Amino acid sequence: MDSHVHIDFFDSKQRDDCIRDALAAGIDYFVVPGVSREKWAQLFEIARRENVFFALGEHPLELTDVPENESRSEILLREIKKTKETRVGRKLVAIGEIGLDYYHLSTKNLERREIQRRAFREQLFAAVEEKLPAIIHCRDKDGSVDAWNDANSIITECEISPKDVLFHSFSYGPEQVKKWCECGGYVSISGTITKPNAQEIRAALPFIPREKMLIETDSPFLLPHALRIAGKEQPANEPKNVVEVARFVGEILGKDKWEILSQTRENGLRFFHINRQ
Ligand SMILES: [Zn+2]
Repeated sequence: MDSHVHIDFFDSKQRDDCIRDALAAGIDYFVVPGVSREKWAQLFEIARRENVFFALGEHPLELTDVPENESRSEILLREIKKTKETRVGRKLVAIGEIGLDYYHLSTKNLERREIQRRAFREQLFAAVEEKLPAIIHCRDKDGSVDAWNDANSIITECEISPKDVLFHSFSYGPEQVKKWCECGGYVSISGTITKPNAQEIRAALPFIPREKMLIETDSPFLLPHALRIAGKEQPANEPKNVVEVARFVGEILGKDKWEILSQTRENGLRFFHINRQ
């Protein structure tokens, strides 16, 4: 399973090709997270495909203003209701990706951080209301854990169970992962772990309980390091590269990639409450 793939960023031909190639590589489930309100409608189209599921949400760096008389929760709840009445209603499996991204914000930009926190809280509230799991994007810069700490406070405040919360493209260390998984939380590992400077994430890996780990590509972003082509423009990342992330993870944990792929698929189906077909 590719637990986080933006196939809506590809054109329809590329989309067909990359799903075909992923299926051929043994990847049979795909979860496409929402990024911005204007792109939500496209997700309904994409989710008509077999085994393609989706989430609704606004990424912390893609927040657009909300009308004065409305909240982000209300907008999201209305969209969920509308979705449930459509053919692809059962394909809506989560709220996301929502969260905090302080990587692109200077520490001086406190106002922007507050806007992100508010949007995150409001969307997480909708997840609780609808009893849907949440996909969290959480990013800090240079070893800081400000976004991580703020995200955890908001999760506690909203009273959503950690077993319904997935930190996607996990980019923190052993201390964070231990605490989070002890509470029952899930994490998803992306190609970020393959970067030469990702020692912290690699060190965290052995502390993720086997039933709490998912794997993703975050395509077309985060191409695994081994697939980079030196001196050339980099190809887009694709869902079939879940296999490469699994290989890399397996190498660190001393496990076969197929064992990693099968366990993380099982975990993903459980986390997103996808009934096996
Ligand atoms: Zn993403």
